[in-house]
Amino acid sequence: MNRFTRRQFLKISAATFGAGATPPAITAAVAAARQAPGPVTTVPTFCEMCFWKCSGIAHVRDGRVWKFVGNPDDPLSRGRLCPRGTSAPGAVYDPDRLRKPLLRVGERGKHKWQAVSWDEALGHVAKRMQKIAAQHGPESIALISHGFGGSFIKQALRGYGCINQVLPSFAQCKGAREVGWTITYGEGLGSPEPLDLDNTNCLVLIGSHLGENMHNTHVQEFADAVARGIPVIVVDPRYSVAASKAKHWLPIKPATDVALVLAWINVIVSENLYDREFVAKHGHKFDEFAAEIRDNTPEWAERETGISAETIRVTAREFASHRPRTIIHPGRRSVWNGDATQRSRAIALLNALMGNWGRRGGIFMPTAMRVPGYPKPDFPKPGRPRVDSPQTGYPFADEFEGVSTSLRQATLSGKPYPVKGWFVYASDPLHVFPNQQETLRALDNLDLLVVIDTVPSDIAAYADVVLPESVFMERHDDLFAGFGRRGWVSLRQPVVKSPHDQKPGWWIAKQLSEKLGTGRFFPWRDIEEYLAARCKKAGLSYAELKKKGVVLGPKTAITVEDGYQLEFGTPSGKVEFYSDQLKAAGFDPVPKYTRHEEAPDGFFRLITGRAPVHTFSRTQSNPYLAALMPENEVWVNTRIAQSLGIEHGKYVKLRNQDGIVSGRVRVKATERLRADCVYMVWGFGHTNPARRHAHGRGANVAQLTTRYQIDPIMGATSIHDNFVAFVKEA
Ligand code: SF4
Repeated sequence: MNRFTRRQFLKISAATFGAGATPPAITAAVAAARQAPGPVTTVPTFCEMCFWKCSGIAHVRDGRVWKFVGNPDDPLSRGRLCPRGTSAPGAVYDPDRLRKPLLRVGERGKHKWQAVSWDEALGHVAKRMQKIAAQHGPESIALISHGFGGSFIKQALRGYGCINQVLPSFAQCKGAREVGWTITYGEGLGSPEPLDLDNTNCLVLIGSHLGENMHNTHVQEFADAVARGIPVIVVDPRYSVAASKAKHWLPIKPATDVALVLAWINVIVSENLYDREFVAKHGHKFDEFAAEIRDNTPEWAERETGISAETIRVTAREFASHRPRTIIHPGRRSVWNGDATQRSRAIALLNALMGNWGRRGGIFMPTAMRVPGYPKPDFPKPGRPRVDSPQTGYPFADEFEGVSTSLRQATLSGKPYPVKGWFVYASDPLHVFPNQQETLRALDNLDLLVVIDTVPSDIAAYADVVLPESVFMERHDDLFAGFGRRGWVSLRQPVVKSPHDQKPGWWIAKQLSEKLGTGRFFPWRDIEEYLAARCKKAGLSYAELKKKGVVLGPKTAITVEDGYQLEFGTPSGKVEFYSDQLKAAGFDPVPKYTRHEEAPDGFFRLITGRAPVHTFSRTQSNPYLAALMPENEVWVNTRIAQSLGIEHGKYVKLRNQDGIVSGRVRVKATERLRADCVYMVWGFGHTNPARRHAHGRGANVAQLTTRYQIDPIMGATSIHDNFVAFVKEA
């Protein structure tokens, strides 16, 4: 296979933060490890610098980790890590790490703490939980979690009857996509998305900036695809790194994606460019669908999107000519406006017209190894439903992942019942949820806020108890059974010892359960006994897994070409071009375009995205990554900057439509952005002074996102519905 070199791969991932970025400073600890005498040992483990779970091999000398590289056996890393994974030693030696359990002794948010023992901290948490449960029921204690290590905390809380457990990745990221695809195909795409980029002949990216959105495997496959010379079509108001590799860049007016996708569908259907055999065999109510999109012509879409009708036709014919080896990328964070589910469903339907479901070069059918759980008692039956149950809110919401903003709303209103305790694990609602003021008001209603993290997040400043977790290189977590072209199991295991009084999540969960009197949900002595038992039940050797880090499962059929039989879990058992279940619930059975509000005079739509060297708000104090990208910038079109008298490289603030003013942020005046919007990377502008190396650097997008639409189908909150104006510094 014609593979990109490591240098070319890094070029794609590095392009947004500048080829001339400062080389990473070597921390004293890593420098000491490099110079220390003695042998180097290697330990395999899997990465948590983001949540993609690439396996790597840590190099250790004199008890210190000094290098982390990809594990060649791992289907996700393929032997190469992204810049954040490579910088994982910086997480171990992050100068801002939480070191000891902390109890708040002053007013919430005033940063007065007392360092205490684990026994005292967990005893305090257990007592406060018992008090809340006695007054309001255990359902009044909730968990907000993002991170693989959270599985044991979830188990401890479920064992105590706490059913309200939400993943912000549902309502604030990929939930709308999962629901849109499930309504269409009967199943979502999951993570990693099973896109056969290695064999595709045409890739369409719509609002998805691969390379800046650094999901390692996909970026490697994308780099290979670019090297093969496949046509890439990028739809983005910004000339992203991916756009720079594209044959066609369509600088769409923000918030009009659905119009473009419907017009593409219109061209494909009216010109008979779709896979008629696939549609005839697997499609449900195609004629009704075709009738619904008849008026969505390219000429109509041109007026909405700013993309010429001619370009819409040319690009549709181009990607249709490569079907079924064409992928219209489903995206991941897909909650741009309030119609996110229908937007994702439109993209799902466009893929269906390509007949790429279950096809080589399209969307393959991933497989996984079966790893039975460790036997444990049944969780207690809840006395009440969740506060975000589909029956009380959004009919297609996910019972497992939960709607985080419904949890916040219940905390604010006390309805359908009071929520009085939050556990926050490896997430920061002050950076993830829209409208910070609402989140801060919700915190005022809590009797208990427990934050479990490795670094002091902004929400940790408001906690009653802060519990310092070991970073991933210092701990075991549960086994990871990955879905992919082959199934596999990876192990996370300690590489070095925690430097202070940090503890792994499994230990925190088990100890807390024992204090709550629910230790029976952790019926094992320690984590290795648990892991070895799970391996044994799966027919795996724990010793081999410890040595290799990754064990691969057998090859099975994953495409129609190699014998996979397609089945669809929709009500009709087919691909639902027209959704009767959406219609029955009062929604459009075929996606329709909604025109979104325009920016007021003097304002610009705030759009956002990611950088390849940071993960949300978690990595800004990592010394290596901070050296590469210490702050975010606000991108503005050069012509607009000139007309407003805003200089490239100078600092400004941003004021949104509700009068909220951001922190200082540096201007990037560029031709690479449309004139009607500004762009910032998410995750900066930290306010917790304990995060010394990230504090006050850049602006927090979430702070400016005071206005949001809620997707009525499944509860996702939009992040591209705010407008900002520039405030020049005196
Ligand atoms: Fe680690 Fe990068 Fe893989 Fe994420 S994508 S798990 S940060 S190597």
